[in-house]
Amino acid sequence: MSKQKKGNIEVQSENIFDIIKRFLYSDQEIFLRELVSNAVDAIQKLQTLARKGEFKGELEDGLVQIKLDEKAKTLTVSDNGIGMTEDEVRKYLNQIAVSGAKEFVEKYKDSNIIGNFGLGFYSAFMVADKVEVQTLSYQEGAKPVKWSCEGTPETTISKGNRQTHGTDVILHISDDAKEFLDKHRIEELLKKYDRFLPVKIQFGTRTITEEIGEGDKKEKVTKEVPNIINEVAPLWMKKPADLKDEDYISFYEYLYPMSAPPMFWIHLNIDFPFTLRGILYFPKLTSQIELERNKIQLYANQVYVTDQVKDIVPEFLTLLHGVIDSPDIPLNVSRSYLQSDSNVRQITGYITKKVAEKLKELFTDDRKKFEKIWDDISLFIKYGMITDEKFYKRARDFFLLKNTENEYFTLDEYKEKVKANQTDKNNNLILLYTNHKDAHAHKVALARERGYDVLIMNHPIDNHLMQHLEMKEEHLRFKRIDADTLDHLIEKEESQESVLSEKEQKRVEEIFKEIVDESKGGSLILKAGSAKEPPVSITRPEALRRWQEMQMLQKGPDGTDFEVYNVVVNTNHPLIAKLLKKRGDNRQAFAKYLLDLALLSHGMLKGDAMTAFVNNSFAFLSGEK
Ligand code: ADP
Repeated sequence: MSKQKKGNIEVQSENIFDIIKRFLYSDQEIFLRELVSNAVDAIQKLQTLARKGEFKGELEDGLVQIKLDEKAKTLTVSDNGIGMTEDEVRKYLNQIAVSGAKEFVEKYKDSNIIGNFGLGFYSAFMVADKVEVQTLSYQEGAKPVKWSCEGTPETTISKGNRQTHGTDVILHISDDAKEFLDKHRIEELLKKYDRFLPVKIQFGTRTITEEIGEGDKKEKVTKEVPNIINEVAPLWMKKPADLKDEDYISFYEYLYPMSAPPMFWIHLNIDFPFTLRGILYFPKLTSQIELERNKIQLYANQVYVTDQVKDIVPEFLTLLHGVIDSPDIPLNVSRSYLQSDSNVRQITGYITKKVAEKLKELFTDDRKKFEKIWDDISLFIKYGMITDEKFYKRARDFFLLKNTENEYFTLDEYKEKVKANQTDKNNNLILLYTNHKDAHAHKVALARERGYDVLIMNHPIDNHLMQHLEMKEEHLRFKRIDADTLDHLIEKEESQESVLSEKEQKRVEEIFKEIVDESKGGSLILKAGSAKEPPVSITRPEALRRWQEMQMLQKGPDGTDFEVYNVVVNTNHPLIAKLLKKRGDNRQAFAKYLLDLALLSHGMLKGDAMTAFVNNSFAFLSGEK
């Protein structure tokens, strides 16, 4: 092997490097992950051989070193692993995927989930116009080998210079990839992809300050220590039984500095029928849900792959944080394939099941605590119930409804509670709710006086949940507290007789017609109600309102449409009889006052209307009206 030998990279197409550059350009940075992974593999292979007694030499700690030489424009990845013999160099480095370029492109072109795992060594040519390899095999009597290639299919093999077993891959960084000669960029990449690799990764050195000596003689000294990038044994690879809460919390802080501590977590740990490790955290939710996605990182054997996990983790769980590590998720395939892959489907199912079990356990073990965190976790659960049929079945028994008294019930408990009072004449169970406890305070109080219970459903997702529950549960209807007058919210028997004559009713209608602003969506209804019913109330029929809310949702917040509402006058209320006794302006002012009170109790009296109302009230009180 004294003189240089020329070889050829065996591919069917001459322009494999063009292909590599063209197809992988957007993910150029993955070359470093690939080379470091190869280096780690080489070290682990040697460790395996040593365990089996096939490597007799002394096994030092595995170490991958990344060296940057800005002047020489090289980036080197060195390992003290298994190394390669000349034959192996020929076999492994001169052969790009047995398949050849065409198939190669077919295989990788739509692998957008990750930066093309498995491309391996050749990804170096995305950033280098020349790659050299210096390697020495661990085998007894092996000779060092140098391999080099300038981005054409032609390669050179010659005598190498490595003294100890292992491999250096030296990249001569090309002009259009200069960013990879920047120390910070390299450190950033190492931190991104290699933070949890199982073998130490060193990138240069760093300076630390230490105190030595005791008492008066204490002094500070600075020294250079290897800059180790990674955590060799990350938490998720450890046995759950060996870990304490603090471990999980500090790992969370390490992953998401500055975040509020997680509420609880699930340690995933399974080996059959697939291998999966991971820790999923339930974060303390902020209101900006959208910003909180993509907080789950996917690893394959501790190598970072992606934070786009929505094909692996059920959609509703993408709000969780944490880490999933599985070598069984096929990485270099298209998304549509991923969704149909049976391993992935099983993994998705497993994760859903584990999350549901954990929640159930919290619910059963400590109901009080579960209620305490309910408001923070309810979003996941509701979202899951709506979007995941299997999860719905599991969660139905522990998801909670909260009422205006801040009491929590499971669906079955609640049904039992309100059954007697809130079943209507069609045998439907009517669950009353408010989306705004303060704005509906008066209605809620009146409803409770009648023995009705009122739920709080104030998150946008609640609308979907209610719709979903109505579909899933027989004879269950939700009605917002202002959907109708109290008499009619829960339809029980036929409506009451009016105490007013038809002529009087007609007059009441005329009076109110003049002041109800139909141009702003109001429409007038006369009803003969009970005396417990206010003289005038505002209602917004459930079905119409839901439809309108959907419309608004589609149009976006700029939709100028006003909200449609009914003004219901209870002709049986004594104040309406009193109204009829008034004359002229006073009558009109009295009617307006009753209407304003209704609008007020509904939070609909604003701006000038509110000012006028207050002034009007002073006039009433001082007896001017
Ligand atoms: P893969 O790693 O997917 O097998 P690569 O193209 O990355 O594909 O590498 C091809 C082969 O070259 C590896 O399987 C390994 O045998 C050899 N190889 C690459 N890098 C090293 C290294 N640092 N030390 C020893 N062998 C290596």
